[in-house]
Order: sequence, then C-alpha cells, then structure tokens
Amino acid sequence: MPSAAPSLAPSSGSSATRHSYAIVGTGFAGLGMAIELKKKGREDFIILERAEDVGGTWRDNHYPGAACDVPSHLYSFSFEPNCDWSRVYPTQPELKRYLREVAEKWDLLPHIRFGHQLNAAHYCEHSQRWQLETTGGNYNVGMLISGNGGLAEPRLPDIPGVERFAGKCFHSANWDHSYDLRGKHVAVIGTGASAIQFVPEIADQPAQLDVYQRTPNWIIPRKDRPYSELEKAAFRYLPGVRLALRSKIYCHNETRILGMVLHPSLMKLYERMALQHIRSQVKSPALRERVTPSYPVGCKRVLISNDWYPALQRPNVSLLSDGIQEIREHSIVDANGTEREVDCIIFGTGFYATENPIAQIIHGRGGQSLAEAWRDGEEAYLGTTVNGFPNLMLIVGPNVTLGHSSMVYMIETQIQAISRLLDECEQRHCAEVEVREAVQKQFNRALHKRLDTSIWATGCDSWYKHRSGKITQLWPDFTFRFRAMHRRFTPDDYQFSPASAAHMAESHASPSIN
Ligand code: NAP
Repeated sequence: MPSAAPSLAPSSGSSATRHSYAIVGTGFAGLGMAIELKKKGREDFIILERAEDVGGTWRDNHYPGAACDVPSHLYSFSFEPNCDWSRVYPTQPELKRYLREVAEKWDLLPHIRFGHQLNAAHYCEHSQRWQLETTGGNYNVGMLISGNGGLAEPRLPDIPGVERFAGKCFHSANWDHSYDLRGKHVAVIGTGASAIQFVPEIADQPAQLDVYQRTPNWIIPRKDRPYSELEKAAFRYLPGVRLALRSKIYCHNETRILGMVLHPSLMKLYERMALQHIRSQVKSPALRERVTPSYPVGCKRVLISNDWYPALQRPNVSLLSDGIQEIREHSIVDANGTEREVDCIIFGTGFYATENPIAQIIHGRGGQSLAEAWRDGEEAYLGTTVNGFPNLMLIVGPNVTLGHSSMVYMIETQIQAISRLLDECEQRHCAEVEVREAVQKQFNRALHKRLDTSIWATGCDSWYKHRSGKITQLWPDFTFRFRAMHRRFTPDDYQFSPASAAHMAESHASPSIN
C-alpha cells in the first residue's frame, strides 16, 4: 500500500521534510486531489497553501458581488452535493464556506501547511524526487501536484505611470473593504468578468465613478433566482431531483461547444440575445454603440449580468472608452489628453492566466523551468503531464479551461486520471513517470488544429491566448470527450522508470514513486 511504503521514512541528514506527495493550493483542485489520495489510502501528503485559509480563488476574490457564473448544482464536487445552495448561481461566501466544510469533513486540515508559499521546486534526477523550497520550510517529495489555479496571480495593467499613482489602489482580487468609497472619485480599469460584478455593487457609493473600458464584452441576461425552501427540501429528500437538475445544467452547457468550435454560425443565437439585452437596457444610441463588441460573440468569454448596463447609466458613472494614455500621481489621462483627478483606482484587469508566474519556479530535467519549456506557449498532454517534468502533475494545466461549463468537472476528471497514473506506477514499482515527448507533440498538433478553426481564433485578444497568439488555455471540445480521453488510459503514452540507486538509498530500498 502506498501509505505504508518504506520510502516514506525521513531520509537521514536532510533538513527537508519528506513526504510522498505535495499538492499546491486549497481550491477545488487541491482539495479534490487530497480527497482522492485519502480515498486510495495515500495518506502521506501535504498541501502547501500560501494563505491562512482554504478556498483558492473563492477565498481571494471577495470583492462586492463576487459570484460564479456556472450554476451551483454543477459547480460543486459530484461526490459532495450541497442541497442548500441559496440560489442558481453561487455567491463567493457560499463557495468559500462549501470548500471549508469539504476540507473539514474529509479531515484535510492536518495536511495543510498554511502560510507556505512555494518559492522553488527542483526535480532531482538522481533521487527521482522533488525538492521544494517554501516560505515555511523545505520539503522533499516523490510527486508534485499543482492545483494552484490558472487565475491565481492578479495582473496590473501595463499603463505608463501606473506605479507612480499616489492615491489608494487595489486589484479586484485584493479588495480592501476597509477603504470607504463613499464620496470619492473612483476609477475602475477593466470591464471583464470581475468588473461587471463589482461595479453595479459599488456604483451608488462614489461621488464619481469612471469606468475605463478597453474592449466591450458580449453580455447576456443572468437567469438567477433564490431556491425556495421547497426546492431545497426536494434536493435533500429526493436525490433524483437534484441529479436531474445537475444533468440538465450539464447538458445545456455542453451544447454551447457546438457554436464555439464546431459550427461558429450557431453563436449568432447568442449575438441576437446579447444585442436584444443591450437594446432593452441601454437607452442612448451612443452608449449602445460603445458597449457593442465588434468581434464575434464567444471569442472572449461571454458574460452574464442584469445590472451592468443600468449601473453604467447612473448619473455619477461615466463609461470612458477612448483608452488610457498615462496614470499620474493623482489622475488618469485618457488618449484624448483629458486628465481626470481620482482618489482611488480599482484594477479589474484580470490575471496571469498564460505565463503564470508559478512556471518560473518549477524546474524539471536539466534544471529547465516550465516557463522556459513554454516560451512559445504552454503545452502539456491532456493538460496534466509535461515531457521533461517527471512526477509533476498539473490540475488545470494548459488547454483545460472552459469557455462553456464547469471547471469542477474538468478538475475531477484530471484528479481521477492522476489517481490512475499513481495506481499504474505502484503496480509497476516505478519511481518515476513522465509523458513521452512524441505523445505530447501529437496530442497538441491535433488540439491546435481544432483550436485554429474555433470561435476563439477569430481575431479578438483574450487571456485564452499566449502572447505568441497560440490558444493555450481552452479545451476545444465537449467535457465528456476530455473525460473519455483520460479514461482511455494508455500506459504506453508514459515512460515508467525504475528506482535509481540514489532513490533506493534515500528511500530505504523502496522501489516505489513514494
Ligand atoms: P478579465 O476578464 O481578463 O478582464 C480584464 C479586463 O481588464 C478587460 O476588460 C481588459 O480589457 C482590461 N484590461 C487589461 N489590461 C488593461 C490595460 N492595460 N488597459 C486597459 N484595460 C485593461 O479579468 P477578470 O474580470 O478578473 O476575469 C478573469 C476571469 O476570471 C474570467 O474570464 C473568468 O474566467 C474568471 N471569473 C469568473 C467569474 C465568474 O464566474 N462569475 C467572476 C470573475 C472572474 P481587454 O478586454 O481589452 O483585454
């Protein structure tokens, strides 16, 4: 059994604490992976968490109005249903609470090293183990599983002078609730998924709110409502009702991939819906024109909101769409040269989705970093394993993000796949597993052939793309195909290596990956 493998014993003379597995992050990915390890009796793992609580993106993004745009009954673990979701779309506090309860129920807290930020990870080819440096100490682990999330590192805009601003400023992912916006002149930069949620929530507070839009988004109505007590009781006592709802949401979302990848003309349906939304909510023809995108619907993430357009039309709110020339100590100068004084800037400018900083600190064979391996754009095999990086598993790695459904489904798929690989390693008594280079290349050739004709390649700029133009974030198919491809597990796709002499010596003669 993995938990009883002799290799788990601490190695003598090393200041690093030894474990079989280290997981990074305590969002859906990290917690879900930890639960799967426990289910299989693999108890010798730690979870590195840089913050002081669990929750990942749903802990960090506590800006006013933060909520998920995937319905709650699908955006949750299949094995941990929650009958008490308050409404169709879960709010951030509910999601954070859900994740905390899951972590407690599965007794994961003793495994979590809070306040431990991963600073460096080096693969030692001799011992076939990862050496980790964290803010809380060093670790030596058999396998590194990254569940740190694709949207974990806030990105500030590359606007000249941004660092000179002397007023109050914060990113949507680091919201400062102690700062009173009332009566202030506030600027919001960015009009993406986060901004369209927090702007309507705060719009009544500042004396003046300037919203700087670079590119408008396609926005459709948000069909949200609270669940009644009767519905919650039905979910609780008639599991079939909850399962039927989950399946209905899942199937409905899957149909969206038809337009995004297979028949982009189908996206016209969404375009009609979004244009009607603008017509019904925006009175001024000039404003209608400025909020109407000029790229095909779906090229960037389609957003859902009922209160974004009304917020923009408040007397104290201005939508400024001429671009920003520079930021000065107390003002923002737009592309026309108009300077506007501001007390506070809120950056709703997104995250390092591509070129995630964690890629710079993970070093595989020959000391090469993931960032170096990915200089032309991130790539992996089925979003999970990367040639040149043995014993590294990525959850929500390259091309796993979705534009159409629940990431929790993708995360669960990857967790199961990683578990299967671990089982295979154990059966083969191997100490190292790595995807073959040719397999990774062939997979990516087919993937990008499909992506090249998708709606995401129709000319817009988005965080789905690496700066090379390669679409490195999205999965261009049905999610059940992702699962089927993972389930069609072919051991020959991987190189399984026996334990080296150094591994055997360090691991007290255990040939296992642990
Ligand atoms: P985002 O969607 O990437 O939006 C960033 C915004 O900042 C865009 O409007 C972008 O304009 C603008 N921007 C970036 N750099 C700029 C610059 N230098 N000058 C001017 N404007 C600039 O980021 P986000 O809103 O934080 O959302 C990121 C992702 O998080 C979402 O797509 C979604 O997957 C997830 N999310 C989900 C939810 C949810 O489930 N409801 C909520 C929040 C976030 P351009 O469009 O021109 O680049």
